[in-house]
Amino acid sequence: MSVRTRFAPSPTGFLHVGGARTALYCYLYAKRHQGQFILRVEDTDLERSTPEALEAILDGMAWLDLTPDEGPFYQTQRFDRYKQVIQEMLAVGTAYRCTCSKERLDALRETQMQNKEKPRYDGLCRDKHLPETAEPFVVRFKNPIGGDVVIDDQVLGQVIVSNDELDDLIIARTDGTPTYNFTVVVDDRDMGVTHVIRGNDHLNNTPRQINMLKALGASLPLYAHIPMILGDDGKKLSKRHGAVSVMQYRDEGYLPNALLNYLARLGWSYGDQEIFTLDEMIAYFDIADVNKSPAAFNTEKLRWLNHHYLVNQPAGYVASHLLWHMEQMGYDVSKGPALTAIVEAFRDRSYTLNEMAEKAYFCYHAPSEYDQDAYTKHVTPDVFPYLQQFVDKLSELSDWSTMAIHEVVQAVVAENQIKFPKLAQPVRIAITGSTNSPSIDVTLALIGKGESLRRLKKMLLNSNQ
Ligand code: GLU
Repeated sequence: MSVRTRFAPSPTGFLHVGGARTALYCYLYAKRHQGQFILRVEDTDLERSTPEALEAILDGMAWLDLTPDEGPFYQTQRFDRYKQVIQEMLAVGTAYRCTCSKERLDALRETQMQNKEKPRYDGLCRDKHLPETAEPFVVRFKNPIGGDVVIDDQVLGQVIVSNDELDDLIIARTDGTPTYNFTVVVDDRDMGVTHVIRGNDHLNNTPRQINMLKALGASLPLYAHIPMILGDDGKKLSKRHGAVSVMQYRDEGYLPNALLNYLARLGWSYGDQEIFTLDEMIAYFDIADVNKSPAAFNTEKLRWLNHHYLVNQPAGYVASHLLWHMEQMGYDVSKGPALTAIVEAFRDRSYTLNEMAEKAYFCYHAPSEYDQDAYTKHVTPDVFPYLQQFVDKLSELSDWSTMAIHEVVQAVVAENQIKFPKLAQPVRIAITGSTNSPSIDVTLALIGKGESLRRLKKMLLNSNQ
């Protein structure tokens, strides 16, 4: 039997890291078993679902490159199917019409609360066999009486819930629209889902869903409820903790594969390995190795991983993601160095793509002014002759490579018997406006001969004024 998993987001908000991790686990598990990963959009709550949220979820999935094998399916396009199943259940007697009024149900709840009982429907209409003409009616599922529902949860272990805890769930409202738990059941059955991997906030839905699947004669999927993600303060991760939307991590300069690696390890481990390629994750991921206890989100660790990915991924891959940030910063990338060269120059000193883009500012802009302290300290009158000599030698250089530039720097330093920073610091200031830059040869090679000489000559010009 082929493994079929599904990620079933409700489009009521953006794709948050918890959802993304669930999607990733569903994806990895399906891939590991050469199965199918299905995307199902649970959009039946028309009041809370929005097109913006749907787009944000699809954008997040696309950015993370978690491409479904099937879907997206939309529950709102399956109403006819749900209605058909409701009719079938009514016909075979696993569901029934209920005409209890809101007033009656409110009064019932009131009495139960006063008696310190759990509020639940008392089954008044269960055996009335009300006809279709008995409007208005809701349709309720005939939950089994007595006995237990046993969930062999792949993460939590065995969870047993007594049927006496469960009442007869409404599966269709008075207007005929199906309710949430019911649509999930019909879809999981119709889509042949074999493994339901989801957040453990859904655990209390599972016994009801199992009962309905059984009533439909469906084979049961295996369930795996994964623990919540907590903030670093131990509380449930929420907006208070800053970035929780996947796209916000893109905005803050994380690479999608670094975030995936981070999310995979958040609640799952394979020995003490921290860095995983996607293929390794697929090869090693097993639901049985998911932790039972909640994991705390740790931004520092994510930064560390992102740095690792910035340094170790092919420059072309990093550049393809850097491009977006460059455009956000308003840089005209057509006028600057090759993005791969920027990646090579800055990756060792960057933790995020944003930092990289900020550091590359001087590649697109000549300094409009010099850092005053740095200038006073390093650009003293005695350095101008060295600078002039440097400019002269560079002008003759036909091979504008890091290596060739390095040799010129060495030559000027040696001929004048000066220390390296005596030349390097003024050059840095001329090129970038401050003393922060990668090594001099790399910096000059990056911005090109014409622009390097222009900026150096501008500093020399200053000295003559
Ligand atoms: N639609 C649910 C949610 O977004 C998930 C339901 C499920 O996985 O069964 O939380």
